[in-house]
Amino acid sequence: MNVSELTAEQREELHQNLLSERTRLEELLERSKEGARPVELSEPIGRLTRMDAIQQQQMTKANRGAYERKLRQVLAALELLRKQEYGFCRVCEEPIGYPRLKARPEAPFCLRCQDARES
Ligand SMILES: [Zn+2]
Repeated sequence: MNVSELTAEQREELHQNLLSERTRLEELLERSKEGARPVELSEPIGRLTRMDAIQQQQMTKANRGAYERKLRQVLAALELLRKQEYGFCRVCEEPIGYPRLKARPEAPFCLRCQDARES
């Protein structure tokens, strides 16, 4: 067995982290639903100018896109945990390593492959 594979305790800890991250993201998405609606012409918008309202709506939409992407990664990681395949890089198949998973339990790639993708 590879020394950098996860212990049962580490795996369980990361599982809990993934579950709370899923709840957090679902709440964020639920709460920002309203703000992502298109700005309607007939809507009374109070002190905000229409420009501000549109800008704010676009920002909310961008944030929601990021939450949705992250939520998909979290769900994929939970599925891998269920199949006992969690913690391995999807590119090189090496263990991702506990310190990295502790910081980002949904990380699908090891640091090396992540860097390679970003450069
Ligand atoms: Zn890798």
